[in-house]
Amino acid sequence: MTTTPSNQDADSESASGEDLDSALVTARRQLERAAAHVDVDDGVIERLKHPTRVEQVSVPLERDDGSVEVFTGYRAQHDDVRGPYKGGLRYHPEVNADECVGLSMWMTWKCAVMDLPFGGGKGGISVNPKELSEAETERLTRRFAEELRYVIGPTTDVPAPDMGTDAQTMAWFMDAYSMQQGETIPGVVTGKPPVIGGSQGREEAPGRSTAIITREAVDYYGHDFEETTIAVQGFGSVGANAARLLDEWGANVVAVSDVNGAIYDPDGLDVESIPSHEEEPEAVLEQDAPETLSNEEIFELDVDVLIPAAVGNVITADNAGDIEADIIVEGANGPTTFAADSILEEREIPVIPDFLANAGGVTVSYFEWLQDINRRKWSLEEVNEELEKKMLDAWEDVRSEVEAKDLSWRDAAYVVALSRIAEAKSKRGLWP
Ligand code: GLU
Repeated sequence: MTTTPSNQDADSESASGEDLDSALVTARRQLERAAAHVDVDDGVIERLKHPTRVEQVSVPLERDDGSVEVFTGYRAQHDDVRGPYKGGLRYHPEVNADECVGLSMWMTWKCAVMDLPFGGGKGGISVNPKELSEAETERLTRRFAEELRYVIGPTTDVPAPDMGTDAQTMAWFMDAYSMQQGETIPGVVTGKPPVIGGSQGREEAPGRSTAIITREAVDYYGHDFEETTIAVQGFGSVGANAARLLDEWGANVVAVSDVNGAIYDPDGLDVESIPSHEEEPEAVLEQDAPETLSNEEIFELDVDVLIPAAVGNVITADNAGDIEADIIVEGANGPTTFAADSILEEREIPVIPDFLANAGGVTVSYFEWLQDINRRKWSLEEVNEELEKKMLDAWEDVRSEVEAKDLSWRDAAYVVALSRIAEAKSKRGLWP
């Protein structure tokens, strides 16, 4: 079944009553705002407000007790003018069609700003993965792969991990798809375990790119990296890997948090010893540190850099006025609401957008896909070297738009992405 996303206006409200927009509403508002800064045909912008298609499927699951439950799964395919749709599959109770469309739009910009030959897609199942046993997750994933079999493929749409899914999920997904196709097709998904065609460095990549972009931003704004203080909100794969690299490179990570709260040491935390969510869930508050803070207080710390690296809509009109950081680098997808973005711009706090900062994930996914289709493995050094180059190129492309047009980092990143997409659309034309 194919659905059309609704024009639903808001998901929920913040404490002061600000509408916390769905990812789709935010993505469309950002697109309209950025379109004003780029010389692109209105017809192209109009086309980009809508996904090519949204596949909605029922995913029946036999629970371990023998009962049957039916979950709803989605795959939003936003745009493929530059190459196959690309983006993650999310297992989360709040997954819905609009969220997938909004997130798939961000994937289109992410792949374009990185100059990868991919378009944007995103999907998932509305399910709480914490309530599933491992065997149930496997059965659900295999059935989901079967339901999506007709709309995905290594040259059409290539899923990857996202919130609530991981390398093992991708292994089951790839196996189910390959069994049905009658041959092993590793390039149908990325983010797989290396033993079945996954890439070295893929798991760490979104955190690594967030760290690289943070380092460049710190340098751009004239801070001394060794003196830089950093707060990281969220200690999952993105937050933990970014924090560890920044610490290894010499910066001072002074605060980190998980769902239960934050720990703070103005002299710098012993980041290496703090387990990530994947290593030991919700363990941040169990670590030794001079101070603990609430989840709100981490946003108010007077640090040089704040990295929101957990879920969306955490920097809102409610707390944007209290942020004391000099720079924000978005490790998560969509952490800043549209209203908060304007407040931060007025307060002259630069926000380096998600679709540049955390783009290391999809960039190494691209390297993985190349390795799969060429049947050739790259070393970790090769992957990290190529990733560093891609991130620096994208940073330079965006930086020159910031300077040339005096734009915010988000608008500048949109200008880079939209110009590439529009050029591809104009060369290919509209047919039929
Ligand atoms: N889910 C990740 C993202 O939001 C990775 C997508 C991919 O590797 O295709 O960028």
